[in-house]
Amino acid sequence: MKMRFALKTSSLISPILVMSFALSASGAFYGDPPDDHHPWAIHDMNRPKPKIVTPGSFSSPEAPGKPPSDAVVLFDGTDLSKWESAKEQRGPAQWKVQGGFMEAVAGTGDIQSKEQFGDCQLHVEWAAPAKVEGSSQGRGNSGIFLMGICEVQVLDNYDNPTYADGYAGSVYGVNPPMANALRPPGTFQVYDIVFRRPIYRDGKVLDPGYVTVFMNGVLVQDHTPLEGGTGHMRRTKPGPFPEKGPLKFQDHGNPTRFRNIWYRPLPARAVEGGTDGFLTAEATTAKRKEIAAEIRADAQKLADPSNPVPGMLRLAESLTYEQDPATTQKVTEMADQYVRAIKQLPPDKLPAKKDEAKTVFSAFDYLTRFNLLPGNFAAKSALQAIIKEQRWDKK
Ligand code: MG
Repeated sequence: MKMRFALKTSSLISPILVMSFALSASGAFYGDPPDDHHPWAIHDMNRPKPKIVTPGSFSSPEAPGKPPSDAVVLFDGTDLSKWESAKEQRGPAQWKVQGGFMEAVAGTGDIQSKEQFGDCQLHVEWAAPAKVEGSSQGRGNSGIFLMGICEVQVLDNYDNPTYADGYAGSVYGVNPPMANALRPPGTFQVYDIVFRRPIYRDGKVLDPGYVTVFMNGVLVQDHTPLEGGTGHMRRTKPGPFPEKGPLKFQDHGNPTRFRNIWYRPLPARAVEGGTDGFLTAEATTAKRKEIAAEIRADAQKLADPSNPVPGMLRLAESLTYEQDPATTQKVTEMADQYVRAIKQLPPDKLPAKKDEAKTVFSAFDYLTRFNLLPGNFAAKSALQAIIKEQRWDKK
């Protein structure tokens, strides 16, 4: 796929790209360089790789699945040690645990996780009572309060109409779910939730915060913007949230069950200091400086008078992240020295340098093309001449 792309592009732009493809194993001098809002190049091998997560397994109505390896498990079916009463005086959670689930005990009050967290992927399974009682908001009502503030509704709506913005899977009072994908009461339902809290700075909203919900695998909230917390009868207003809060479950007087509760914290967004996404110019410059410093340190480790090319290329690569006159001068000196060494080789030793010389040329060609080295960079023209003379540019 990658190869086809490179060749196709090269036929449109320049045969140079075919050569630079050889460099793509190191990732350098390949895709578009960093810019004012992206600290990494396109296809940058210096960019941190995704962390390894061993996936869990999916749940069925009969049995809970296994959480992924990096999940923080809040309830595994055995005890409420990670939960407490949400009443002001706190104290132990008074819900009961049996058969691998917890069950709300009417009148004992809401419970909440002892742990506090913010942005997350959250997995919760719940079951409304098999014995159907009550109607509308009175049937199998509970709720999942993200950060203790924003309720994703838990309700038995299998055969039980109510107001749309209070259905199971609603952001209560704010946004109805896009579908009613519930299983019958008594059966475990699965919610997979992605939550991003609002981000404000100096009273201005940088990100309103969002909630995405899958109900039994069906998308019911699609990146729904938050409008503050949620409440009954009252319209809430957008506003900042704290950094962290507990996960709260509602005691609405119905013996609703929960099992297999876990979350995964999410990395910071660009607006709050994360390094993926569209960054501010300041954040980008700072990150590029950091990457350049790491690459220059690496170049120093690679420095080897008997084999100067890897160190030289690594040092040159740092210029794509940060322009620095001393580095440019050093690269220029090393490049000139490299060309001199090539030119001094006896004719029979020259062919062995073909790939290396083309690689070095390709790097300098990239850097001049993106104005990261001066357009008249002498070593580039000299190498180009050698490549032509030796007919190394021919297939
Ligand atoms: Mg509720």
